[in-house]
Order: sequence, then structure tokens, then C-alpha cells
Amino acid sequence: MMPILVIGGGPAGVTAAKSLVDKGGEVVLVEKTDSLGGRAREWTCKGLVECRNCGVCYAIDRAAELLTQPSVEVLLLSNVTFAQKSEEGFSVKIKSSPRYVTDDCIGCGKCVAVCPVDGKAVFPPTGSGQPRVHWIDRDKCLHFKKGKCSACAEICPTGAVDYEDRARNITRNVAAVVYATGIEPIEACEMNRLGCGRYPNVISSVDAEKTLNEKGRLARPSDGKAPKKIAIIQCVGSRSVKVGVEYCSKFCCKYATKISQLLLDIDPEVNLDFYFMDLRTLYEPQDEFKVWAKAKKTVKLIRSMPAVIFDRPDTGNLLVRVASETDLEIHESEYDLVILSVGMRPHDATGDIAKSLGINADQMGFAATTSDLEKSGVYVCGAVTQPMDIEETAVRAMAIASKIKTREGGT
Ligand code: SF4
Ligand code: SF4
Repeated sequence: MMPILVIGGGPAGVTAAKSLVDKGGEVVLVEKTDSLGGRAREWTCKGLVECRNCGVCYAIDRAAELLTQPSVEVLLLSNVTFAQKSEEGFSVKIKSSPRYVTDDCIGCGKCVAVCPVDGKAVFPPTGSGQPRVHWIDRDKCLHFKKGKCSACAEICPTGAVDYEDRARNITRNVAAVVYATGIEPIEACEMNRLGCGRYPNVISSVDAEKTLNEKGRLARPSDGKAPKKIAIIQCVGSRSVKVGVEYCSKFCCKYATKISQLLLDIDPEVNLDFYFMDLRTLYEPQDEFKVWAKAKKTVKLIRSMPAVIFDRPDTGNLLVRVASETDLEIHESEYDLVILSVGMRPHDATGDIAKSLGINADQMGFAATTSDLEKSGVYVCGAVTQPMDIEETAVRAMAIASKIKTREGGT
């Protein structure tokens, strides 16, 4: 039986791939970045006190499990460069870039510590990405630029540095294709009036997730102090006809409410104001977050969208102006830190490979699923098809794996 090609190593791709191998299939998974896990690599576990079902660990655990499966060929730092329908399925070409570090890497980080390049030339995988194998950026590395450094190879305890690694052109014949290229965040700075890019203490929810994942707590970018009064503003770039996208990104309320709970778990003294249009915690029991917020003396839910943010140059604090829901008067509140909760767009729903596979975009720019496309052997999967959280992504990816196995014959 020919393998199934999975394009994308995020939550959708790794779940579909794992589900396919669990059903006895073979998989070639192509991921363009340094590791598996997708956006979840840079998102934080929200369960400091108890599991909050954010799904981040699910995606990372599936990625790690997948790497132990002999029937999966995982190609990282790789891109599909050509795909054509053939009699039995598809003929595909893949370009795989060299990593210069082999699977013998144990992720000790000694190479990063000794690398003399400003900003470093050898890196760990992104966030919680799997595997924990490091990689060298040839364009920055002095070994390749000047032929005079081998500090990382000398210190590496497992001999994992391999300067002889080469790019590979790979051809595979596959029975079907799972297209799971995921999502990308809407750039918070598109919302200029909210101060992103101008005021250091206005950060995006992506920045907040990343910092919490790396350091376990937030700090103000301007002075490194722990913020004591925080505003979270929902729907930045979502449900907007002027800037960003018109649709509800669907998962951001879920993640922002869980981030709020995490921030209070980390520091129960934090004052947190949560600004929203509608609280659309679609995946959660109704009102659970409202009940939680009501029980916290330092949390306020404010149904209004801030019009503008200014900073105070003397303190770096932010002044948020907003119309009150009750009296429609303009109020101003001061915060140490503002988090803009950004929505998501589909990633690469209409690129060259999508086109050559016959994938079209729908009205909102997501990859459209049609029965004709699936009949041809192409399955679009996960958040590239519509906004969804990790749990929904996983359920849909498993359903697609079942469809493929039914079509190809098997369990
Ligand atoms: S060879 Fe030198 S410059 Fe290149 S990654 Fe290793 S330590 Fe850094
Ligand atoms: S020193 Fe070697 S084993 Fe340690 S992280 Fe670097 S490449 Fe990996």
C-alpha cells in the first residue's frame, strides 16, 4: 500500500498522521519548520493548578509519539515543491534543507552557549516543538561563512553536529494527500489605535502565550517588572470590516479566558479587566468563565471595545479609553500591561501546491472542502479549513484519517 502524504506538522497534521498509522497506514509528513507541533509549540499550558483543557499538551504529545512510529517518515525543514495526480494517487517532489545536527542531539544546549555569533547561529527547536534536536543556520554560522569556527562540534557530547549535511530532493508516490497547513495570527499592529508596536507594554496574545510558555510568568517589556494591573482586549483583528478579518476566529475567547485564569493562578493579587464584544466560549459550558470571574474580587468583565490606547512616557503605563456599557460615557483606565487577543487567518490556503492539488479558497480565504476534492484523494484538514481550537482540530483530523482508511481499504 502506498503512503499518505501529510502536509503540515501542526495539531491537524500530527493527529491525522498518528491516526493513520494507528490504523495500519504509512505516512510521509512534510513540515517546513524545524519541528512538529505547529502553533501549539509556542502556546502555554494553562493548567498551573488544574488541567484547563486547552489542548496544547495534546498537540505536543501527539507530535512526540509520532516521532517514535516506524511507519512515519517525518521530513522537517522541508517543502513540497511539486504535486501531480497520477494513476494510483499523486507524484510529489519534496525539497529538504540540511539541519547540520543529527538525531543524536540530546538537546543539552551546550552548542548554543559556546556559539560566538551575536544572536547565535545554532538554535533549539521552536518553543515546545518536537523533536528537541537543535539546528544550525548556515547563513549565520562562521563555519560556513568564514571556515574558521567549529566550537559547537567540539563541545557537543554526542558528536551530533554534522557540517557535511546536505539538502535533499526527494520524490514520493502517495495514495492521498492531507493538506493541513494551519493558521497564522493576525498582526496586532494592524490595529494602530491600540498602540501595538508603539508602546512596549502593549503585547499580543501570541506574545503573552510565548512568554508564559518560555518563562512561566509575564513581565513588562519596558522594565521587566511583573504587571499588577492587566487589560485583555478581545476580538483584535477578528469581526472587523475595516482591519483584519470579518469572521469570529472562534477559539480566542476560549484561550483568553484560560490565560486570564492562569494569570490569577500565578499571582492572585493581579487586577485583570477583560474587554469583550461577546463572550463566545463556544467550546465551554455556558457562563463558566463568568462564574469564575464573579468569584474573583480582582477580575472585571467589561462588555465594551476600547477605542484608543495612549501611554504614559513617565511610567510606561497604558491609558485605555472606552465607552461604558451602562452610561455610554467615555472612561479612562490605567494598566501596567495590555494584551491584545488576536484572531487567526488560514495559512497558505491558496499557495502553488494547494492550487496544483485542486484546493480552492472559500469566501473567507479558508481552504474549501468539497466531496469532489476528497474523491480526487485530497483532504483539507484542521484550521486551514475554518477557525477551530485544538480539540476540534484533533477530532476532525481523526475523522479524516478514518475516511482515508475506508477509501484506501483497511480498518
Ligand atoms: S560552528 Fe561556530 S558559529 Fe557555527 S553554529 Fe557552531 S559555534 Fe556557532
Ligand atoms: S551540544 Fe550537541 S547534543 Fe547538545 S544541544 Fe548542541 S547539538 Fe545537541
